[in-house]
Amino acid sequence: MGQPFVVTPKIKLKQFDPNFSNGLDKDEIREETAQLHKRIGELQYLLYSNARHAVVVLFQGMDAAGKDSSVRNLLVHVNPAGVETANFKEPSSEERAHDFLWRIHKAVPRYGNIGVFNRSHYEEVLVVRVNKLVPKEIWQARYAQINAFEKILAQNNVILLKFFLHLSKEEQAERLRDRLQDPRKNWEFRASDLDTRAHWDEYQVAFEDMLNECSTPACRWHVLPADRKWYRDYLVAKRVVEALEDLKMSWPKPKEDLSKIKIV
Ligand code: ATP
Ligand code: MG
Repeated sequence: MGQPFVVTPKIKLKQFDPNFSNGLDKDEIREETAQLHKRIGELQYLLYSNARHAVVVLFQGMDAAGKDSSVRNLLVHVNPAGVETANFKEPSSEERAHDFLWRIHKAVPRYGNIGVFNRSHYEEVLVVRVNKLVPKEIWQARYAQINAFEKILAQNNVILLKFFLHLSKEEQAERLRDRLQDPRKNWEFRASDLDTRAHWDEYQVAFEDMLNECSTPACRWHVLPADRKWYRDYLVAKRVVEALEDLKMSWPKPKEDLSKIKIV
């Protein structure tokens, strides 16, 4: 996928086109993505058998940016037994009674598993900032706290892959209209999505700051053009395969000498 999508601070979000697809052919890319998904299935088996690393794929983005469908498509060939998914909604009263990273750290998968975060600790510098749920000093200090937390994860063999699904305002309108009109999608519609949409520009500023403040050498952010679902899925799959291949895993050695064992 090349460097353009990896955030090296400082970036301006306006320089990224949500509709970008690099002039590629949809059908060819779909085919390639299907191969990548199969490869993820194979690599997951190695990850699981070695149980030395955990991988977390994290998605942030506006409503209808495709967080749910990215997860669904990415894991088609993966054994569900090795997957741990977490959807971070408004914190419960128990979660509120703890530090903001408590629920996040608890959701980090065990070694050998792939975790998926649909929203994450980054809500603490997004919705919390835009809706002024805490004073500025509090959310601003969280960038450094998040960076420290993610560094600890990286140093402990947790590979965190962060994807910002960059959707255009026009495409969001299309998708929200679709949710209103299609009876199969009505359930996905929330009037509160429109309140969030009304703060579109403030969210873009919050996303840009998040990307620049928290794309560290230990854990980079990726900005993915999200208007075209097929290109988005391709980029996610390609990056996940790269990250798994970087681990250079092989089949674990037997725990005992197998040469003398006879099955009768
Ligand atoms: P969908 O795409 O299906 O609508 P969703 O992730 O938007 O899924 P919802 O239940 O609609 O799920 O919304 C979850 C809400 O919880 C979001 O508005 C999000 O901003 C909010 N949320 C998540 N974490 C926090 C947090 N730490 N503080 C406050 N609100 C949060
Ligand atoms: Mg929602």
